[in-house]
Amino acid sequence: LEPAYQFMIRVRLPGGVATPKQWLTMDELADQYGNETLKLTTRQTFQMHGILKWNMKKSIQAMDAALMDTIAACGDVNRNVMCNSNPNQSALHAEVYDWAKKVSDHLLPRTNAYHEIWLDEEKLVDGKEDEPIYGPVYLPRKFKIGIAVPPSNDVDVFSQDLGFIAIVKGGELLGFNVAVGGGMGMTHGDTATYPQLARVIGFCPVERTVDVAEKILTIQRDYGNRSNRKNARFKYTIDRFGMEWIREELNDRLGWSLEDAKDYHFESNGDRYGWMKGEDGHWHHTFFIQNGRIKDSENYRLKEGLRKIAETNTGEFRLTPNQNVTLSMIPEEKKAEIEGIIDEYELMDGEHNSAIRRNSMACVALPTCGLAMAESERYLPSLIDKLEEILDEAGLVEDEIIIRMSGCPNGCSRPALGEIGFIGKAPGKYNMYLGAGFAGERLNKLYRENIGEEEILKELKPMLFHYAQDREDQEKFGDFVIRAGYIEAVHDGQDFHS
Ligand code: SF4
Repeated sequence: LEPAYQFMIRVRLPGGVATPKQWLTMDELADQYGNETLKLTTRQTFQMHGILKWNMKKSIQAMDAALMDTIAACGDVNRNVMCNSNPNQSALHAEVYDWAKKVSDHLLPRTNAYHEIWLDEEKLVDGKEDEPIYGPVYLPRKFKIGIAVPPSNDVDVFSQDLGFIAIVKGGELLGFNVAVGGGMGMTHGDTATYPQLARVIGFCPVERTVDVAEKILTIQRDYGNRSNRKNARFKYTIDRFGMEWIREELNDRLGWSLEDAKDYHFESNGDRYGWMKGEDGHWHHTFFIQNGRIKDSENYRLKEGLRKIAETNTGEFRLTPNQNVTLSMIPEEKKAEIEGIIDEYELMDGEHNSAIRRNSMACVALPTCGLAMAESERYLPSLIDKLEEILDEAGLVEDEIIIRMSGCPNGCSRPALGEIGFIGKAPGKYNMYLGAGFAGERLNKLYRENIGEEEILKELKPMLFHYAQDREDQEKFGDFVIRAGYIEAVHDGQDFHS
């Protein structure tokens, strides 16, 4: 007799794009083998929780039949490549998404083990496999890539090991500014670990994108720290060797040089909700999914409503980097039908929620994440209920403030980029961070350590009233707390703890 071990399955879904058929497959699998819910992650993919060991193979084979896999969704390899969901610029999105997919495909491990173990394919006779990019020992640590299309920084491009920032002129994608060395994770109490922002090192023409991604990844393969996992991410490699070194090393490996970075401007890292009409006449509708959890409850049949929409076989589902979902590419003649389902199930877009809730993110944490030190997804909504009362009193309900919570310092919900950020320390206790930039361009900093709900509200209430009263025109909360002297600005992760 074997214990009923449970597992989580994470799909690889470059750019977060899923067909209605793929959505239905995930919906069914969650009911059949999972815990009847789906989690949309902050890296634009599906997680299914509670899969019993003996149902793993059946789940993965059903995903395979719907042309999805879980290859490299975990491990010391390149992870799910993120891509701006860009609902109103359809042609550009298609092009940028295509690059996300090409980069993802190119950096996939070549091993056949996945197919042998999960899909019952024939075993290699001599067991020898060639990994032209990863080599025999893969990377020192996971590696994350994201592609942003300004003015939207929804992918939090500066949180990535490698970020591509699209440079578009006259509607044409010229190429990408290349940003390297971002990452959110750290370890409590170890100041040698810290969140860091990626820094722009130059521009690459569009046709050379895959080449740049490969060469940067091989630099980390060869120079990343393999003796200390806590200092193994690319950000530490870069901080150890310096920006000049990485630029030269990359140019050497490429055999050509990156051009000077081009101008770009980000406005926010959030999503735009509700209906939008794209430049090619297609419609898009972004749904607010609180913390990415798709489930049915007595008062809100979100999962069933989205299933009904998928059953119309319209357009495509785009999972956003903010744990929401956009139904994209809806033809005019299908809009009324989709609208009917939205109305029937009262599916929420942003309008039904306060601005702070629309800009909130939380990782899974307890009870399913083994690394969690505190609640996150199950707690943040109720903390926001209480903050909403304060915001209402202060006249700030419609002011967008980014709030993020993680159950441990791994930082899966990118809490170091929250204007208000929380990282779990122990059950009911959080470190509170303030001062990140609204467009994901500045880290926050520790404001109070190890505090519970009462202290959180006690700290934030006077600050929010102060903000309501003394802010400058268009000033964001993250900027205000710095100007007002509550916290210092952090532009480089190496100053995060100082
Ligand atoms: Fe788990 Fe920590 Fe990631 Fe949250 S941040 S999902 S607790 S590893």
